[in-house]
Amino acid sequence: MTAALFISHTAEMGGAELFLVDVLRDGPQDWTGGFLRDGGAAMALRDAGRPPLIVHAGKSLFEVRRESGLLSGLASATAIFAAARELARRAKNFDVICANSQKALVVCSIAAKLARKPLVWILHDIITDPAFSPTNRKVAIFLANSFADRVIVNSQPSLDGFVEAGGKAAKATIVYNGFDIKGRPRWSKSCADALRTQFGFSDKPVVGIFGRLAPWKGQHVFLNALAQLPDAQGLIVGSALFGHDDYADELREQVKSLGLSDRVHFAGFRDDVSILMAGCDAIVHASVADEPFGRVVVEAMLAEVPIVATLGGAVGDIINDGTTGWIVPRNDATALAAVLTSILDDPTVARQVASCGRIDAARRFDIAQTRSRIAAVLNEVACR
Ligand code: UDP
Repeated sequence: MTAALFISHTAEMGGAELFLVDVLRDGPQDWTGGFLRDGGAAMALRDAGRPPLIVHAGKSLFEVRRESGLLSGLASATAIFAAARELARRAKNFDVICANSQKALVVCSIAAKLARKPLVWILHDIITDPAFSPTNRKVAIFLANSFADRVIVNSQPSLDGFVEAGGKAAKATIVYNGFDIKGRPRWSKSCADALRTQFGFSDKPVVGIFGRLAPWKGQHVFLNALAQLPDAQGLIVGSALFGHDDYADELREQVKSLGLSDRVHFAGFRDDVSILMAGCDAIVHASVADEPFGRVVVEAMLAEVPIVATLGGAVGDIINDGTTGWIVPRNDATALAAVLTSILDDPTVARQVASCGRIDAARRFDIAQTRSRIAAVLNEVACR
């Protein structure tokens, strides 16, 4: 096995970090996770008996955002070099360094050069998304083309974005996120009852939306759809990450102004998503921008709960519309409400679709497959 050090810049519980936790939790013992700042994902690895490496990077590195330009990047140069030197020193006993985010790519590119180790970048984004500043995009593509031996991308749209931005297609391989299938709860009456008791919901249907609270995740569209479904209750699971607290406040205001206060519950960030999903009657994924992967879509399918997701990005690769879930246009609360109405009105058909969704997702998104595909890339790179 190839000894690999996976580095994420943040340990906040975003999809990329949860991907890493899942890969490492029962993964090969010579794979280690690392973060440039301590946090929830690092704690999750410790709890799993896989203590991570923490290489503290200066605060200025975290002030560079997707939309940041050259100046803020330059301002963090000292912190980047200090972290890279420290990382290079600690990477001595590893065969490969894997950068699990764009900021990590910056630090890992230098560290890999200093430590003379091969570098793999795991790209979780559609890099052509306008949310990334042209500077950020150019820097990432330059580093990938110049320093990374291989690039693992999480979906075809992420691969397309990488190539369109100038990334070398020959370096890229698609590896889907994977999930622990065995022992994962499926919808059941007892999960549904427990959910209702926990959040004080009535016997009427519960529709859930899971994910960080951010404008592009479209929780506001979900609320507008819910306002058109007088019998449905809404469960919003997730917290604002990466500085989107204002949006969380706006959602609370929207709930009040739509008169939904007695039937919508904000659950905050939860580490028992699979159990909560298994108690919902339907799950919505409402992104208003292209979704690079969409872990919550697969998780809803694995919970055997009807999923309605918005078109764009990888959603069309995950869901077969009408067979394993439903796809609706994005930013269209009325279309979303119409599909939810038909699901809630005809639970028998909805259950059949959800059952096909579970079978398909279990076949395509098993964590064991993800690990073996990553291992193949790492072995190839280490053998060069
Ligand atoms: N998630 C979680 N607790 C929450 C909300 C979300 O553990 O309260 C998880 C969710 O189950 C999923 C991940 O966060 O695994 C979000 O990944 P996704 O690809 O959907 O979105 P991203 O955050 O990467 O854009």
